Amino acid sequence: MQVELPGFFDIQVNGFGGIDFNTPVLTADEIGASAAALRATGVTRFLPTLITGPSDRFALCARALVDANEPAIAGLHMEGPYISPVDGPRGAHPRADCVPASRADFDRRQDAASGRIVLVTLAPEVPGALDLIEHLAGRGVRVAIGHSDAPPATIRDAVSAGATLSTHLGNGCAATLPRHPNVLWEQLAADELWASVIVDGHHLPGSTVKVIARVKTWARTILVTDAMAAAGCPPGAYRLGDVDVEVGADRRVSLRGTPFLAGSALTMPDAIGNAVGFTGLPLTEVAAMASTVPAEYLGIPSAGTVTAEWDRATCQLQVRHVS
Ligand SMILES: [Zn+2]
Repeated sequence: MQVELPGFFDIQVNGFGGIDFNTPVLTADEIGASAAALRATGVTRFLPTLITGPSDRFALCARALVDANEPAIAGLHMEGPYISPVDGPRGAHPRADCVPASRADFDRRQDAASGRIVLVTLAPEVPGALDLIEHLAGRGVRVAIGHSDAPPATIRDAVSAGATLSTHLGNGCAATLPRHPNVLWEQLAADELWASVIVDGHHLPGSTVKVIARVKTWARTILVTDAMAAAGCPPGAYRLGDVDVEVGADRRVSLRGTPFLAGSALTMPDAIGNAVGFTGLPLTEVAAMASTVPAEYLGIPSAGTVTAEWDRATCQLQVRHVS
């Protein structure tokens, strides 16, 4: 059946269509081509996401993205560098560039980005993080918990300081956790925290997606692709910042030569189809998780309309037209 949905709003995109946003030498044309490739998948607004890296490199990447004047770019998502340096929670972020949080370091990066950083993912257990959360919340910058090994009490402190989101909940944490309490239960239980999830079928089992969407409700669950340059491209070898990654025939993205996940090659229509299949929620609610819910979270309206073909039997959503 044909459906009309609000334009999708992806708040975590590292790259798309062969373009890596963590490359410091992007031209406006390359950024525009990537935005056009995203738009073909129904994404009319997005936050390019810059991962852990040195301040000068971040500044070059941020400037290129801001100077491109691409209307689909609603701001920047800064994921790191104030994250856990520990293997596991750190994920694919380079350890050498994980640093303590500081107002001065953030302010330098925000200046380089002309004030366009609207979302910061950090680990609250990193030195200086709680102070920085207050600083960011006071300036209207949204703060997410992610790539974290925080004890439950520190999660609660982060919420009190102003954190409002869990970035890709269920990923970016230790592979093995005490059964309870732990970093996942504490974030699930914190009603102040919205949750973003990567629903590619590799990052989270379907049952975990279903539980998160039920606990947080569809109105506070956000679908992100966490896509990297290979999204919209064939399987093969790619780069994510300084990190070598490979995309398998099953679209699973891993650190080259390891089993560790390193972003996704997911598109938003596939995330929506997967999420309907995993949660049993109606398409309209799941599509909201990819459009109006992230828009409400950020306080930035979604844009445009997606006309698509929806097959409930196979959970396939095919974008036909974006206006
Ligand atoms: Zn991440």
